[in-house]
Amino acid sequence: MMQCDALVVGGGPAGSTCARALTQAGWNVAVLDRARFPRDKVCAGWVTPGVFTLLDLDPADYRAAGLIIQDITGFRTSVMGQRAIETRYPGVVSYAIRRCEFDAYLLRRSGARVVDGTPLASLVRRDGTWIANDAISAPVVVGAGGHFCPVARQLRGGADTARPVVAKEAEFRLEANGSDVTGEMPELFFCRDLEGYGWCVRKGDYLNIGLGRRDHGDLNPHLDDFIPFLERRGLARRASLVRWHGHAYLARGTGPRPLIGDGVLVAGDAAGLAYPESGEGIKPAVESGRLAAETLIAGGGRVQRDDLRPYEAALRSRYPAAARTPDALAGAARSIGRLLLRSRAFTRHVLINRWFLRQPA
Ligand SMILES: Cc1cc2nc3c(=O)[nH]c(=O)nc-3n(C[C@H](O)[C@H](O)[C@H](O)COP(=O)(O)OP(=O)(O)OC[C@H]3O[C@@H](n4cnc5c(N)ncnc54)[C@H](O)[C@@H]3O)c2cc1C
Repeated sequence: MMQCDALVVGGGPAGSTCARALTQAGWNVAVLDRARFPRDKVCAGWVTPGVFTLLDLDPADYRAAGLIIQDITGFRTSVMGQRAIETRYPGVVSYAIRRCEFDAYLLRRSGARVVDGTPLASLVRRDGTWIANDAISAPVVVGAGGHFCPVARQLRGGADTARPVVAKEAEFRLEANGSDVTGEMPELFFCRDLEGYGWCVRKGDYLNIGLGRRDHGDLNPHLDDFIPFLERRGLARRASLVRWHGHAYLARGTGPRPLIGDGVLVAGDAAGLAYPESGEGIKPAVESGRLAAETLIAGGGRVQRDDLRPYEAALRSRYPAAARTPDALAGAARSIGRLLLRSRAFTRHVLINRWFLRQPA
């Protein structure tokens, strides 16, 4: 039996950040992941500078490690098929990374023991100790297994009633003249009903294209329109030939999913923390991973539910549950939204600055 002070299930940004902070505080940490690293994660790979700050990682050091990091200095946005608005900035406002590189780098850097290629098959609590897969024991488990995290599922018990964003994405190496998208200026295309958006994000020689929508069961028909649109516009000339992968995430802020239990905390997508307006989930994953570790360290080994309440309180104040537009107003909100997306001032100050870059008003 492998014994550790904390078992982290999931080695994505939430898990590796939590594991690193605990390891640095002298904890003996194991990270269990069903995938073998480096692994791909369905994700556009857009990161705001705050992510690097939270990670205590200088983008220049990341680049110096030979990994792809694309500077972003603006965005081209449009309602699909309509005229695009360019919003430019004098400096770097975001980055684009490849998740296969980024996640493997962060996990290696965590210093924790990594048990990859091994799904969590069983998790039982005996006399205040968790036993995972009859092989690893720990007094506390951090559920950081993403949207389908088995720890979060076990904690919540019943079915998940929250409606996720569903998305499909493809990332591939570009051939010469494969795309007119520039690395500095990713493109966003809002669906006409404003229930989702598509994107083209270039990272050096790689292009990431995708489309995400609130789940109405209609992602594929929208994708069937989006792919030829990308090809016609020269944004991704071989979009119909590449392999698309699907995934989901909750973009509601704290609310639908429990965050703590006796000897257990849930972080990142497992807690459903992505920002509702943009879908940015890497920053909430990193921040919640850090907060989980800080709570555990401050608790000095006390891991009952009440000891973990500071984590729950911190997350609820950082990621409050998102408000829903009442159904009766949805039609009007859509019409107004489409008009606003044609305004340069709204696009810069509200859409990009406030919702995507989360700059203070
Ligand atoms: C199409 C798409 C595009 C996105 N684009 C962006 C973007 O551009 N920028 C952004 O900030 N966010 C984006 N997001 C959201 C972002 O990808 C997530 O919020 C982020 O990856 C969450 O990190 P995490 O560590 O919580 O989970 P993950 O990164 O999902 O990591 C979870 C880990 O748990 C492991 N795991 C799962 N099940 C088990 C199991 N049973 N046993 C053991 N291990 C398990 C997985 O293998 C995985 O390694 C996007 C999401 C999607 C779906």
